[in-house]
This record gives sequence, C-alpha cells and structure tokens, in this order.
Amino acid sequence: MSRTFDLAVALPQDTLYTYIIPDDMITEDIVGKRALVSFNNRILTAVIIRDNPEPKFAKLKPITEILDDKPVFSDTMLKFAGFIAKYYMCSLGEVLKAALPRGISPKSALSVTIINMPSDSELINMERKAPKRALLLHTLAEYEGDVSVSKLEKQLKSKSITVQLESLEEAGYIRTEQKIELKTKIKIMKAVRIPNLLLNDEIQLRHILDSLDKKAPKQSLMFANILAESQESDRAIIIADISRRLHSDASVVKALNKKGFVEIYEAETDRSEQEEEFSKLAVKNERELTLTEEQKNAVDKINSKIEERIFAPFLLHGITGSGKTLVYIHAITKTLETGKTVLILVPEISLTPQLIDRFNIVFPGRIALLHSRMSAGQRYDAWRSVREGKCNIVLGVRSAIFAPLDNLGLIIVDEEHEPTYKQDSPAPRYNARDAAIIRAKFENAVVVLGSATPSLESMQNVKNGKYELLEIMNRADNAELPVIKIIDSFDAKRNGEMRGAFSKDLIFAIADRVKKKDGVILFQNRRGFSPLTQCSDCGHIPTCCNCEVSMTYHKRSNTMVCHYCGHNFPAYHTCPECGAEKLQELGSGTERIEDELSEALSELGLSASIERMDLDTTSKKGAHRKILHNFATKKTDILIGTQMVAKGLDFDHVTLVGVINADLQLYHQDFRASERTFQLLTQVSGRSGRSGSKKGEVIIQTSHSENEAIQATGRNSYKMFFNYELNHRSTANYPPFYSFSIIEFSGKRESDVIRNSSGFVRYLPKDNDSIIICGPTEPAIPRLRKNYRRIITVRADKQKDPSGNKMKYYLKYALEFYEKNFSTSNVKMTIDIDSYSSI
Ligand code: ADP
Ligand code: ZN
Repeated sequence: MSRTFDLAVALPQDTLYTYIIPDDMITEDIVGKRALVSFNNRILTAVIIRDNPEPKFAKLKPITEILDDKPVFSDTMLKFAGFIAKYYMCSLGEVLKAALPRGISPKSALSVTIINMPSDSELINMERKAPKRALLLHTLAEYEGDVSVSKLEKQLKSKSITVQLESLEEAGYIRTEQKIELKTKIKIMKAVRIPNLLLNDEIQLRHILDSLDKKAPKQSLMFANILAESQESDRAIIIADISRRLHSDASVVKALNKKGFVEIYEAETDRSEQEEEFSKLAVKNERELTLTEEQKNAVDKINSKIEERIFAPFLLHGITGSGKTLVYIHAITKTLETGKTVLILVPEISLTPQLIDRFNIVFPGRIALLHSRMSAGQRYDAWRSVREGKCNIVLGVRSAIFAPLDNLGLIIVDEEHEPTYKQDSPAPRYNARDAAIIRAKFENAVVVLGSATPSLESMQNVKNGKYELLEIMNRADNAELPVIKIIDSFDAKRNGEMRGAFSKDLIFAIADRVKKKDGVILFQNRRGFSPLTQCSDCGHIPTCCNCEVSMTYHKRSNTMVCHYCGHNFPAYHTCPECGAEKLQELGSGTERIEDELSEALSELGLSASIERMDLDTTSKKGAHRKILHNFATKKTDILIGTQMVAKGLDFDHVTLVGVINADLQLYHQDFRASERTFQLLTQVSGRSGRSGSKKGEVIIQTSHSENEAIQATGRNSYKMFFNYELNHRSTANYPPFYSFSIIEFSGKRESDVIRNSSGFVRYLPKDNDSIIICGPTEPAIPRLRKNYRRIITVRADKQKDPSGNKMKYYLKYALEFYEKNFSTSNVKMTIDIDSYSSI
C-alpha cells in the first residue's frame, strides 16, 4: 500500500510533482518534511506539500527516502512560502530552498560534477582573481563524473570549500547534487551546571559564595557567573566559553566540581554560539532607562496590540537618536512575557555590530543570529536551535524572514527603507520588509517597521490607513539634532577655498575637533583611490573587459579593480593606447580622502589617527568590529568610510560629520536616487551630537546645493522631502502610486538579447489603462560580467490594480508565448517584481 503526494522541487518551473510514498514511510506529520526524489536521472531534494489522492498521471515514481524526522516547514510557513512564490512569480520550490539554511544539506552527502568548463582565458583570469576556485576546478577536472565534497576537501587539505562551490555553481561551471543524506553531526562539548537541589537553596548558595569570596576569589567569580547564567536561561554553559570570557581556565571549574558545587556534563552544542560576536560595543543595559513621553506612547500602542495577539502593522518614524531601539526592547520584553517569539530584521549584520550588542546586553543567551557571514555549520546550528525552540529571539538579515520560529508574536524591521531588504538574485526576489507584513498576517503577529527616513511606500501605507504611524520627533536624553551646514563646492572652488576634495570650512572644523579630542566621521560613498583614470593626451579611459564601466584605481594595492565583477590587474601609469605618461586620476574615493586629509592636517601642525572603513578594509572576519572598537575607545580620531559609517553607529563623542561629496548619489538613473540621497545624508548626519552634553555639527559639500533632497536634509525635514518627492512620483507614475517591476534579458550575444527582449514585449498589452510598459532599453550598465543586457520596465497602477494580479496575468500570458517561440537557452530572463535595482 502507498499514497501519492505533491512535492515541490527547487527548479524554476512553477509546478508541483507527484510521487508515490510507500505506507511505511508515511507518518501523520509528513507534510513539510523533505524527501529525496529522482528527477530526470538526478537525485534532488524536494518538500512534501500535500496529499494528492487523484494524481493526473498513472505512471508515477516512488520517492527514494524521507530526510526528516520532523517537518522542517509548518503549515503556516508553507502557506507563507506559497504566497511569496505567487507574488514574486517564482516556484514554491525556489522559495522553500531559500528558506532553509544551506548547511542543512550535510556536505558529505553532496557530490559535484563539472557541467561547463570555463574557457582558457576565463580560467587564467580566475587563477589570478580566485586561486582557490581555480584550484578546485582543476582538481575536479581530474575525475570523471561526480566526486563527493568530503573527498575534495580531503584532497585539497581544506576544511571547507562551500564558498568556492557556491560561487562556481552560481557561475554555471559545476552542479552539486545531494546523493544520500547522512545524519548531521551534532557537536558535543563539556558544559557546567549547578545541581538542581543547590540551585533552589538560597541560603546554601549565599553560604558558598561567602566562603569562596574569602578563600578563592577566582572560583567565586566563576561560580557567581555560572549562577547568573543559569538563572537567565536554560542554555548549556560551555566550560571553554565561560572560562575564556572570565579570563579564567578549566581548572577553576574543576575545583568547583571537586567541592560538589557544580556538575560537569556533556552537552549538545551549537556552533552558532557567537561568543566573539558579542563584544564591547555597547555597555549599558538600556532596559533600565526611563522612557520619554513619546517613547512611552509608542510602546503603549504597540504593547496593547501584542496583548491582543492580533495582526497589527506599525510604522515607527523616529528621528535619528530618538531611541527607537528602546521602543523595540520594550515591545520584545512584552512579547516574551506573553510566551511568544520575536523576529528582528536588520539590513546587514556586519554593519550593525553595535545594535546586536545592545540587544544582547538586555536579552543575554536568548538571541540566535542568522546571517550570511556565518559558516554553513553555524547557520545550520542556529537554525536548528530556533526550530527546537531554544532561542526565542532571532536577529538576522533578510533571509531570516523565513526563520522557523513557532508562535511568532512580533516582527521588527529596523531601517525599513533600506534597499538591502530586497533580494536581487537568485529567485525568490523578495523584499523582506514587505514579506514581514505578510508573515505577520499569517501568524497574527504585530509588526513594527522602524526608520528615521521611512520609504515613500510605507508612508503611503500610513496615509491609506494600512499602517498605524508612531512618531518620535525629539532625541532622547535631551540631545538635540545637529546643526547642518551646506557648502556649495562650486562656489568654494571659484573662491579658491577648495583643496582637493576638502573645503576650507571642513578642514578647519576637523582641525578644531582633533584639538578638542572629539570624534569625527567623514562619509564618501566610493572606495578605492579614484573611480576614473584618463589619459590627458589621447583621452583613453581604462574600462573593464567584462563590463561597460571604468576601472577604479586602488592605490594601496596598486591595482585597477572593476567594482561590478571584481576583475583586476596591476595598475599602469603609462597610457596603453598612446604611450604617454599622462594618466590622470579623476574623482576621489576613500583612499584619496584619507591621503588628502592627513596631508592637510600635518600642514596645520596636527597629527591625528585616521582609519578607513570600507569594503577593502573590512573583508577579514572581525575587522569591522575592530575598527569600530578603535573609534569607540578613541584610539582613532577620525573615521572615514562609505555607507558603512552611515548606519546605526551610536558614539556620543562624535560632534562632527562631514559629507565629502553629496552629489554621488544624485547622478543615478534611478527614480529612487533622490530618496536614497536624503536617506543616506540624514542617516549619516544623525551620527553627530548624540549625547545631550555636546552639540553636533554636520558639513555637507555639494555642487547641487539647491537640490530638494539636500535642502530637506539641511533643514532636518522629512516632511519637506516627503511632500516634494511624493508629488514628483505621482506625476511621473512611479511607486508608491504605481508598482515597478523589471524584466531583464541577458546573454553573451547582443543580437540574441535584442531579439528575445523585443520578442517578449510584443506579447505584452500595448494600450492598457492600468499598466505602463517601457522598453526594451539599454540599462545604465549595458554589459555586465560579459553579458549584454536589455530591460523592459512594467508599472501597474495601484488604484486600478491594487494587488498587481492583473499585471501578473499579462506577464504570465507573455511568458507562455515567449517560451514557446524563442530560444531561451542562450538568453537568461528574470522577472523582478517591485524592483529596487537601479536601471
Ligand atoms: P535611534 O535608533 O532612534 O537612532 P537609539 O536607539 O540609537 O536611537 O538611541 C540613541 C541613544 O539614546 C542611545 O544611546 C540610547 O541608549 C539613548 N536613549 C534612548 N532612549 C533613552 C531614554 N529614554 N533615556 C535616556 N537615554 C536614552
Ligand atoms: Zn567588470
């Protein structure tokens, strides 16, 4: 006997596949478990979606194996994933794949096959750029057919090749497949606990602490900490971890054990324990602060909905430094009291180490982190501990929206306006902020979107009555917003007051802070030394061979680098076209800013320690934290950086923020350019003057001082910006009035791309009153990573087609004809619903 079920496979085809499951494999809770199935001669992982007693086809195959003891997806999660698939026009299997940690498939069970060997020149390029990847390919090429990952790791004497595999697979060179699932290894470590009898005996505990205090201070400290941790949570206390934290060693625990005060046992642990991730970027427990009137009002409104246990979306608009985090902390506390769990989404973990520390001080041992810098093993462990209910708070980046939290009561989306919430590639191309609203609906949870500069979309939802607005218009702790000065760099240049990228005013302001030992943050949203080099004799500009963009000169490494594909070569100083030694570096990146500043300061007889924070200085694990730590402890006086310095930093000694060139954001061909400028400038300005005792100043240099986004930043006026921008979007038919989606075609041969994209657009309606179709056109970067590109933009009127279903109906219709009539093998087509990418 057996039954038939529909399963989802992680392929782009939007269908479910029916398989037979033998009776002895069937359990009550089979829906939501994973199974291995054979599919076109490959073994793939699939998720069991539903019973299908009347399959369409007679000849069905049985599944090979069930992979899980318990379902990995709850009913709610399956429904949520189904919604996401439909909304973003991808397959359910693709969503489910994105929802599971990659580490869930043990590496030993993966096998690898080469499907497409790179060309010789590509290989040479790879050897230089990514030697590990190239070596892996060479090793693979020695085998016929497939090889297991563990075998490869042994041969390469490497502990993990996951990263290399992932990038090779993404580039289409190899295919990884699951062969057989082995039991995932659980790591066992020595842990310590206080015996239960003793733990409940206050008098005895006091007695032990008193006696240890006198005789053995080290043991006393250890015992007190073990006690505090056991009272705080049920988590296993790993001896190695606690010893490290207290600068002690295992012998101290052993001594306590001998005396019978503690027990030592073997605990299943978690590679996700991120001891070193939580460090000293925050010091106070903010729960002890008294809420301001405005904060209290926000907390009361949120908490009453949490008590009611119903779906309720809030937009928390609080200016920079208004104490939004404290509002989150109170809402989280309330949610935990009602026995429910919490999901906190942040734009990028590596950019928010300080925020993580602030939460961790308030909720020690209860937070699981989920983010992309963790190893596969760590991610799997974190995921598992969430699924097993060990952690009731998850803090993560966009993919954490799929965290397997049961009984979800609250979702917080911090900095809701951030574009990083939108996934570009691969499918599902979801926006975690919007998905948070959907998930909260399915879970009957409260959702709080927080920002100092809410997106126009979210603010419009407030106007439409969909979200409730909570405002905090004053800074906490009596701090005031900084004074913002806008300097027109054209005028300054004319008056001879510019030196390189610095105006006289900015240099003097910096010098003043250096003397006073106040902190300075300088923002320049471009890394490297100069974004463009040009021969002043013949006009030649070095460009990337894979992309249609100019190469950025990096002085520290003496290389030219493409910031889009990573292609690089040693910098040259004679023009390859005409041979003149007249290559000029145009424009400034962070490296040049650093050089110019230290020169200018030393001419004023000042010495200051300057540190740079950008992608180049933070690639090593922990580097980001270290830079921030140096700045927090005043080892560094001046921090220069890209967007990384704009977000979330809360250092109260910073009294000056300088924006070197605010125009950089404005030139994009993107309709959100103005919004991004306002958001970034407001964010970075908000780092200044955060303590009540020191007034802050911001200096913004720009050659567009009349621009509305810059004017509004200067006046600290979200309202001014919002009204101006909303008006503009309304006349130009952009979000939030129209939805905005992009269909992209890309391929190695330009003629194919042109043919396919013009073919597709013919199947879309021409004169329709609810949608506007534009294109195909060349995007701002017409060639990227060796591929030519064309795009079609699709906008749908939100009033006439509020759910976007009409538009999707048209797209599906076109898609069907397109797939029938055009060769799709050499042109890749993607549909990006509610796109955030610049065009
Ligand atoms: P935001 O995220 O809104 O920019 P933060 O949450 O970082 O603001 O808060 C800014 C600073 O103000 C933090 O150092 C925080 O500890 C402090 N703070 C917040 N609320 C209060 C309060 N009610 N009393 C005193 N200090 C506060
Ligand atoms: Zn490139």
